[in-house]
Amino acid sequence: MAGKIVGIDLGTTNSVVSIVEGGEPIVIPSSEGDYLFPSVVGFSKTGERLIGSVAKRQAVSNPDRTVLSIKRYMGTDHKVQIDDKQYTPQEISAMILQKIKADAEAYLGFPVEQAVITVPAYFSDSERQATKDAGTIAGLEVVRIINEPTASCMAYDKNREGEKSSDDVETVLIWDLGGGTFDVSIVEVGGGLVEVKATAGNSRLGGDDWDQRIMDWLIEEFKGKYNIDLRSDRLAMQRLKEASENAKIQLSTETKVRVNLPFIAADATGPKHLDMELTRVKFQELTADLIKKCEEPALRAIEDSGLNIHQINKVLLVGGSTRMPAVQDKVRSLFNKEPSREIDPDKVVAMGAAIQGAILVGEVKDMVLLDVTSLSLGIETVGGVFTKLIERNSHIPCSKTRIFTTAADGQTVVEVHCLQGERELAAHNKSLGRFELRNIPPAPRGVPQIEVTFDLDANGIVNVSAKDMATGNKQKITIQSPTNLSREEIDSMVKDAAIYAEEDGRRREESTIRNKANIEIDTAEHTMRDLGERMTPEHRSALRDATDRLRTSMQAFDLPKISADTKTLQDLLFSISTDAYYALETGRVGADQAKAQAAEAPAEEEPDDADLFGWFNKEE
Ligand code: AMP
Repeated sequence: MAGKIVGIDLGTTNSVVSIVEGGEPIVIPSSEGDYLFPSVVGFSKTGERLIGSVAKRQAVSNPDRTVLSIKRYMGTDHKVQIDDKQYTPQEISAMILQKIKADAEAYLGFPVEQAVITVPAYFSDSERQATKDAGTIAGLEVVRIINEPTASCMAYDKNREGEKSSDDVETVLIWDLGGGTFDVSIVEVGGGLVEVKATAGNSRLGGDDWDQRIMDWLIEEFKGKYNIDLRSDRLAMQRLKEASENAKIQLSTETKVRVNLPFIAADATGPKHLDMELTRVKFQELTADLIKKCEEPALRAIEDSGLNIHQINKVLLVGGSTRMPAVQDKVRSLFNKEPSREIDPDKVVAMGAAIQGAILVGEVKDMVLLDVTSLSLGIETVGGVFTKLIERNSHIPCSKTRIFTTAADGQTVVEVHCLQGERELAAHNKSLGRFELRNIPPAPRGVPQIEVTFDLDANGIVNVSAKDMATGNKQKITIQSPTNLSREEIDSMVKDAAIYAEEDGRRREESTIRNKANIEIDTAEHTMRDLGERMTPEHRSALRDATDRLRTSMQAFDLPKISADTKTLQDLLFSISTDAYYALETGRVGADQAKAQAAEAPAEEEPDDADLFGWFNKEE
């Protein structure tokens, strides 16, 4: 069954993989049985790599060795340092892709070698290149990079087949608000053609910002109440971050939520618990400016498309953050129409990518995609001016040529400095790279004719060439910004990744099991310390026994026994914590008594950061 191409939505928070079967896109579940692959990579202290939901689950207890939202760093020279090794964003993304590839292969029962990967429409050349490199490192041939909103639209167009006559042309605005990014595209669909008219976005606006607002509010409220600043405590911050996102998600369906984080901090008077109520009204007040920020890219995209707001037939909501009622209200008020969410906003991008894959192998025949580039391309000319060759929103692939000349008499060398962006001055745009064309025959300024050509391929990746018309002398480059990887670097990473793929496969199950066991042991230890004398001696000795048993089976590498012992310990912990909380809440022990116990505790036994990790974590 080789020859199939999967579609991968490599997201900031979560990734999704899809494939077309029987003409329809289906979403492939992860080995954990979920259709979302958290885009999270963790490194355990014993050197194991944890990817996806396992990594996400241990993020709270292992924040220093957990990598989140790596997509924000694609195409930059950011490095992730773990022990003595540094990882590029490409390598971290490749680890996520490797897991997706392996899980998809296990599910489909045939090798997955080719993929269409989606990127935000405004991703620059280096970000696209970095995404492609990540695929290569993971052992995937990235046959096409397509824009996320375009992919959504393809899935939408496919979905409406049968509903309408295929000749019905609709102008759709895709409003894609994800975890870290906001993307808007105006697309015409109909008659088998999906034609992107314009695209705009904000690469620094997404659900994370909404989480951050809740987090800041919680921190300030807590500080006001207890005069303790939680910002200096990494573990507390990680718990707050998770709780803030959960609160935000709940506020999409509830009008108020309780944020409850027991043992979040402690001072001389004893442990402190965070317990606050946040209403949807308050949340919307805290984030009103973020909603406002969505307007600008939406209006710019409409203007660039040459249309007006009334010509938009449909607004399609994509991305997890469009579940927030305030976002839907904004769309209603801006466009005076009900937003459409006919396809699951989490899955639609990957499904569109799978459709593009099926078009490329000829499995889907009646659809054509005409995409655009979201940023203008050009070169630096005299006075540091940016001269555009390809305007933004031009259809891709495309090629543009222009003749340039020398600025000084007798000039024999020209430097071609390639840039991408919308600003007037070269310095304000993103530099993609530079090269020189030499040996131009000396002549008065303005006489030599240098032909510069920009070729933009269907992935949005650029090739630039310069030719001296007199001599036919030619220079060209495939843009590789300094932050991108060389062929050799990629090759060596591919080898590394392949070695790991094998090892990872073997160790995946083991590492998941051991990781769970470690978390339970940690939790048991914290529980014993946190509860102090509030735990009965019987419970304490039962916990000790259960932890010791688990440790012994871990040393013996007995996987089935580790799983069974973990489950026993987990059940025991659950019943002990329930009892303890019940006692605290019903006052059987009483707050005063708890305080007195804390005050009596010797000073050197003050809990350190790690002790504040609450065994109350519901996730585990
Ligand atoms: P995406 O990048 O499309 O996977 O979107 C992820 C973002 O959507 C994250 O910031 C999530 O917190 C957010 N999200 C997911 N579900 C909801 C929900 N029900 N309400 C609000 N935000 C959500």
